[in-house]
Amino acid sequence: MPDAVLRAMHRGSENIYEGPLIEMAETLIPDLCRVARTSGKVAMYISNGHGMWEAALVNVSNIGDKILNLSVGSFGRMWAQTARDLGREVIDLDFGNDTAQDLDQIENALRAHDDIVAVLMTHVDTSSGRRCDPKEVSEIIARLGHRAVLMVDCIASMGCDRFEMDAMGADVAITGSQKGLMTPAGMGFVFFNARAEAAHARVGPISPYWNWAPRTDATRISQRFCGTNPAQHLHGMRAALDMIHAEGMEQVWARHETLAKAIWAAIDHWGQDGSLAAVVREPEHRSHAVTALTMTAPDGQRLRQWCEDHAGMTLGIGLGLVPLGSFEAQGHFRLGHMGYVTAQMILGMLATIETGLNALGIAHRAGGILAASQVIADHTADHSKG
Ligand SMILES: *Cc1c(COP(=O)(O)O)cnc(C)c1O
Repeated sequence: MPDAVLRAMHRGSENIYEGPLIEMAETLIPDLCRVARTSGKVAMYISNGHGMWEAALVNVSNIGDKILNLSVGSFGRMWAQTARDLGREVIDLDFGNDTAQDLDQIENALRAHDDIVAVLMTHVDTSSGRRCDPKEVSEIIARLGHRAVLMVDCIASMGCDRFEMDAMGADVAITGSQKGLMTPAGMGFVFFNARAEAAHARVGPISPYWNWAPRTDATRISQRFCGTNPAQHLHGMRAALDMIHAEGMEQVWARHETLAKAIWAAIDHWGQDGSLAAVVREPEHRSHAVTALTMTAPDGQRLRQWCEDHAGMTLGIGLGLVPLGSFEAQGHFRLGHMGYVTAQMILGMLATIETGLNALGIAHRAGGILAASQVIADHTADHSKG
């Protein structure tokens, strides 16, 4: 989280009914839509990402409606479970953690059930680090003339991996404040287009807190938030969006891409003897926001502990690939590289990992950090001096 965001949030109570705070809150809406690349609407919530799963579902479907769920990791599976818990009938297509979504299976499911009201997919699944292309799915829906709305979980990816809601044909996209948007956990966002609004018109009753209509047709800020607004978070989001748009969306995506490629270069180099690897084998299907790794248990856990104890660096735990708490889980960990990340931070992270591998005597091919540095040098090369 950038200091500018934290500083912007550090303030006491102000007038939450009228005046500058209300005017500033309105400016977030177009700037959020520029991040999602949509001419649609955005509803803002006080919530984390789990809340956005529910919000998206209850605005386009009724209890008993059919939902098609596509998953490539545990976050996709959890969204499907949320739908089941809300009484929706879920048809599950689970493609595993490290393979592509199967477009034929998706098409067959849609052909077999013309009463599917929504398709759920995860743009980047944070457990596996796998990225899926929403356009592949929206093209099938369009070609079949199917009624289903396409709903995309962009909680990990927005502001990191290229996501263009309108161009990719997503009808609903959800995200949270705390990942690529660089602001503490506490706000969630649902973007939606006219197709999704048509789906909304036929459902009801809708839980008043999650209903996106009053939030987007608001005449008072208390309607936008169904109660008190999160003033400090609004200031934090304003600062974060200022940083994102000052850099530019294309540049933000390019920075994440270069840094992700540097990370993969290090991993591929270290793992040449097979001791360590990215969970997603094909680079074109890897996320630029998060990378999941696998090594022999318990070395992943030993490395995480070393980084925590000796370098003040916390690596992500492995999630969803094997049962949490199992011995095999100690072979998995994840690198988060979303949002406020620079070459300096990523090179520091990789050098720390390589130091830990050395300190613990974990087998690896030395020199991953050089491979990573070469990627960054190549992407930022200054040819002006020949
Ligand atoms: C983090 C995350 C979630 C859950 O968000 P919370 O804020 O923890 O509730 C859901 N989906 C994806 C893809 C995520 O990365």
